[in-house]
Amino acid sequence: MEFMGKKVLVIGAGISGNAVAKIAKNMGADVTLSDSKAEADISYNMQELRDAGIKLVFGKQEPSLLDGVDMLILSPAVPVRIPVVQEAYKRNIPVTTEVEVAYNLAKSPILAVTGTNGKTTTVSLLGQLMRTRYPNAGVGGNIGIPLCEEALKAGEGSCIVAEISSYQMEASNTFNPHVAVVLNVTPDHVVRHGSLEVYQAMKEKMFANQGPDDFLVLNYDDAKTRDMANRAKGKVFFFSRKEILKEGAFVNNGWLTISWNGQTCKLCRTDELKIKGGHNIENALAAAAAAYLGGVRLPKIGESLKAFEPVEHRIEPVATVNGVPYFNDSKATNTDSAIKALQSFDGHLILIAGGDDKHTDLSEFMELVKERVDELILVGDAAARFKECAIAAGYSPEHIHEAGYSMEKAVEIAHKIAGIPQTVLLSPACASFDMFTGFEERGRVFKGLVKELLK
Ligand code: ADP
Repeated sequence: MEFMGKKVLVIGAGISGNAVAKIAKNMGADVTLSDSKAEADISYNMQELRDAGIKLVFGKQEPSLLDGVDMLILSPAVPVRIPVVQEAYKRNIPVTTEVEVAYNLAKSPILAVTGTNGKTTTVSLLGQLMRTRYPNAGVGGNIGIPLCEEALKAGEGSCIVAEISSYQMEASNTFNPHVAVVLNVTPDHVVRHGSLEVYQAMKEKMFANQGPDDFLVLNYDDAKTRDMANRAKGKVFFFSRKEILKEGAFVNNGWLTISWNGQTCKLCRTDELKIKGGHNIENALAAAAAAYLGGVRLPKIGESLKAFEPVEHRIEPVATVNGVPYFNDSKATNTDSAIKALQSFDGHLILIAGGDDKHTDLSEFMELVKERVDELILVGDAAARFKECAIAAGYSPEHIHEAGYSMEKAVEIAHKIAGIPQTVLLSPACASFDMFTGFEERGRVFKGLVKELLK
């Protein structure tokens, strides 16, 4: 990608937009960075970019911003439907994305992971697996680290692991990973893309440019991703938690197994994984498959799978207090995720749930609560509705505790009532904005309170 002497407009002053603006500037472009927010509302310090000679434009994006522009680069959060992007298309100004810039700068193969759920876990695990062979492998994208920086850092003779969201694919047309992984497709982000079909099409763009020497890793157990094999240009490598495959990655008799080119190899047992739950077996299979196709030797894959620790806020073990383990699953901001967490434990749970209510149907969630939760502690805006739905599902009101808007109180109640063989789990099934700045803060506050109990 040639930046020297080009006039480049970057839209979106987020972590990736800022990174790509700096890279384009360093490579000789005349760069303007524009964000529709006021500078005061941007969470990053923009002075460094100003000092680097990047022009900054905040607030209303006038069409004149595009005058003389040779290339428009969108950061991941920016949808193509906004007027300035539509105007660029009208003027035939090439529109690209930060991810596509990363692809063009990369001197090593890219292994890219997409899907509705499990991306961050799979990418973190795959990054760890790839670093056993390529110590300076890059890991970036939707995970919160700019992919273009990682692509440059990885350099030659290495690899780049990319977390890709449907948003990032909207304006990308040439991105082409050597190994593409699609974990699952369920209704999500339909508001931005308009329909589930468009959302799925965005995910399929990720492998649309592959050739016969590339690989497409697909979830065999998900009808939508299994069907993608019909549109694959590269070699399809399936993974399945539920079926034993002739070729691919699967579970056989409790062993994660890879079968490919007539060879079969056991990697590790499912109960040796530190990441809990059936959904994480799928993530482990997907990561193992991609690492194998990316050149990591099979024995190394088994070792690394066993060593991998849960990602923060995703069924993350916090501490054991008086023989009772505490887990932080603050990332469960919806019922589907909380269901996954409940399914990961055999029962005897003390569940802390509630928060900023998403008003989704709770019947399936409450059925599991009835089956696996000994005591239910509720917080936040959602507490009243959750209580009502729990009782309607037949859960005993005596086992429901209310902690108002206080995580401290919730942990205090849990500590008071918990005993062996119970487990305390924070898996809210709600957003966090009624009490916190985000799920990260909620999780850290919870962990801090649990650690206090050890003192
Ligand atoms: P993402 O980056 O796609 O949001 P994460 O790895 O952060 O994914 O996981 C987010 C939540 O999605 C987890 O808390 C879990 O509830 C759920 N999840 C993770 N992996 C899977 C999977 N393979 N299938 C379905 N749900 C999953």
